[in-house]
Amino acid sequence: MMKTEFYIDGRWARPADGATIPVVNPATEEVVHHIPAGSAMDADAAVRAARRAFDEGPWPRLSGAERGAYLRKIAEGIRARLPELARLEVLDNGKPLPEAEWDLADAAGCFDFYAGLAEEMDGQGPEEIALADGRFTAKAVKEPVGVAVGIIPWNYPLLMAAWKVAPALAAGCTMVLKPAETTSLTALELAAIADEAGLPPGVLNVVTGLGTTVGQALIDHPGVDKLAFTGSGPVGSKVMAAAARDIKCVSLELGGKSPFVVFADCDLDKAVEWIMFGIFWNQGQVCSATSRVLVEAPLYDRLLERLIEEARKIRIGDGLADGTLLGPLVNEAQYRKVLAAIDHAREQGATVATGGKAEGFNHGYFVAPTVLTDVPLHSDAWREEIFGPVVCLRPFTDEAEAIRLANDSRYGLAAAVMSGDDAQAERVAAAFRAGIVWINCSQPTFTEAPWGGYKQSGIGRELGRWGLENYLETKQITRLVSDEPWGWYVK
Ligand code: NAD
Repeated sequence: MMKTEFYIDGRWARPADGATIPVVNPATEEVVHHIPAGSAMDADAAVRAARRAFDEGPWPRLSGAERGAYLRKIAEGIRARLPELARLEVLDNGKPLPEAEWDLADAAGCFDFYAGLAEEMDGQGPEEIALADGRFTAKAVKEPVGVAVGIIPWNYPLLMAAWKVAPALAAGCTMVLKPAETTSLTALELAAIADEAGLPPGVLNVVTGLGTTVGQALIDHPGVDKLAFTGSGPVGSKVMAAAARDIKCVSLELGGKSPFVVFADCDLDKAVEWIMFGIFWNQGQVCSATSRVLVEAPLYDRLLERLIEEARKIRIGDGLADGTLLGPLVNEAQYRKVLAAIDHAREQGATVATGGKAEGFNHGYFVAPTVLTDVPLHSDAWREEIFGPVVCLRPFTDEAEAIRLANDSRYGLAAAVMSGDDAQAERVAAAFRAGIVWINCSQPTFTEAPWGGYKQSGIGRELGRWGLENYLETKQITRLVSDEPWGWYVK
């Protein structure tokens, strides 16, 4: 059932050198499958296929409605196989099944949304440009960038694939998708769904394998026009360096250390609920997780007590077991990294109010919901992304201090505020230096709205119409309409 080959030029292919990577179920530590591990040769084959499909194939020349019809078929394909895909996602990533089902419904919705935007493109003729010089007319048209490479992380495997593939294909680009080596199963199924939808060969190619081999070969490839990356800052920097060398278009969605400012007039239940949703959903492996919670001093003690009480109630277990609300972390490396970050926080002066290694498990990479207090402002726990279910809680005395602490970060992906006073919430929202701001909640994400970060959290925006722009070039067409001789050389 699970794929052992990757998808290049409309065909299933084995890696040129036959290498594979084991797939480990993070709840049991069992090897459940092996995926193909691509090399530079496979990257080259995939880019050449995408190049041919773009330069010679029908895809960029189809109408928006025709491309939209394929995207709608892919959306239907995801929905038709949703239960099976959700189980694969849990096996691969560990997340609770209802979360995986939610992700996949969102992924299907993303294909439908961009199908709609592709259809709308047909109605959007060239934009006429008013020129000061009446001897000329000018218009601007949008065209696909060309061959795009999409490189994605492991936290929302199929959803991150959809965020790249759907807008790229809607725009008329062709794509090579490289999923994370830890979670490639559903990206290969997406290729199968696209194949069943009859997508022309080479329009979508999926190659799996290590970032350092096949990933690096893809970003370095001279046949690529656009790099779209989601992942960590250090790798984002490599992607940008590769783009800089060849002057490729680039968009980056990177990490964060997002703040959540909670004022004392909030409803305590709602505050605790959204703080928990902001950091424990997906085991905290969320780029926009609100991992620094700032609480107005009069509410701090009551909120901390209640947060500890509720965090301890969260049911931890195998993502496939009924009632699980927190699964294992994605793999052993992430598990060790998060536990080390908690130990290091303690060494740097923080108090572990609750959490740490989850008790009662002989297998699996389980970390309990963790609340840190007394976290020094200079410490790594306060400043660096942990990417696990670990929240730092800190009191503040007034709005100005909350804003200063919230913005004191090299990241600027997301920020949240909860206040009983709407004017105050709007003021703080305006003051945040972040690309995504939530008022009275944390994390709800909508395909229609722009997604991306300020500062070191990235460059460019995904989702909504901004996500389509990522894959479009703008061309000006200028026409001389005057019959008068130009008269510069030829008099
Ligand atoms: P990562 O940077 O280690 O890997 C991301 C992808 O890059 C993987 O597919 C990997 O194989 C590939 N890669 C690694 N080295 C490469 C190289 N030299 N050349 C080309 N590709 C290479 O990140 P991760 O650990 O998979 O994901 C976690 C990170 O992703 C976190 O920092 C998180 O905040 C970020 N993230 C951001 C967003 C967002 O929208 N801003 C969303 C999800 C995750």
